[in-house]
Amino acid sequence: MAIDAMKVKSIIYKISEVIGENKEYLTELDAAIGDGDHGINMTKGFKKVVEKLETSDNKTPEDVLKMTAMTLISNVGGAAGPLYGTLFLKASSAVKGKNEIGLEDFSNMLEVGIEGVKHRGKSDKGEKTMLDVLIPVYESISKDIESGLEYNEIFENALKISRERIEYTKTIAATKGRASYLGDRSIGHIDPGAMSSHLMFETIFGEL
Ligand code: ADP
Ligand code: MG
Repeated sequence: MAIDAMKVKSIIYKISEVIGENKEYLTELDAAIGDGDHGINMTKGFKKVVEKLETSDNKTPEDVLKMTAMTLISNVGGAAGPLYGTLFLKASSAVKGKNEIGLEDFSNMLEVGIEGVKHRGKSDKGEKTMLDVLIPVYESISKDIESGLEYNEIFENALKISRERIEYTKTIAATKGRASYLGDRSIGHIDPGAMSSHLMFETIFGEL
């Protein structure tokens, strides 16, 4: 696996498409336990990201990821914009100076990106947020790399975990973000940010 700047761009375009296709769904999920803007925020943000990337001459994966991060931070309202922005920004720093990203780089990007989200969100897994998908998927990938599994097995396992973790968010109460205002009444609902993270992973793995 060797992903150059062009490929990173095309994956991000695809993410933007998939998020746009799921705008209503993400918004519905957020309407149940938040304020119903997650799909709207994310769609608007990624549209802006695509506009920016299409008119820029990004030379490295780091440039593409950084531009994505800054655009999300400055264009997406709500909690998720700055958090996803931080994820992409930290991820960009993990591939500084590289022309291509390999699977181990991807794992490193996730590791430092997640640290950034945790720090910025003062959150961790088990709080019914995007981290309930991000952390277990990262753990699955890094464990499988260490075990020397083939790429397709690594992605298959990661996707399986991702799907399980979305369901898991239904079983717990939110303790961070708007959904935490509902306390136990948030149980029974999927976390919208966990779903948007899952959609991103599904898209990325589908493109690799
Ligand atoms: P807002 O809640 O401000 O309306 P969004 O609806 O766009 O923002 O995003 C909500 C999502 O953001 C949640 O579903 C959750 O996954 C994620 N989120 C909220 N707060 C945090 C946090 N402190 N740490 C990690 N993720 C969070
Ligand atoms: Mg919201």
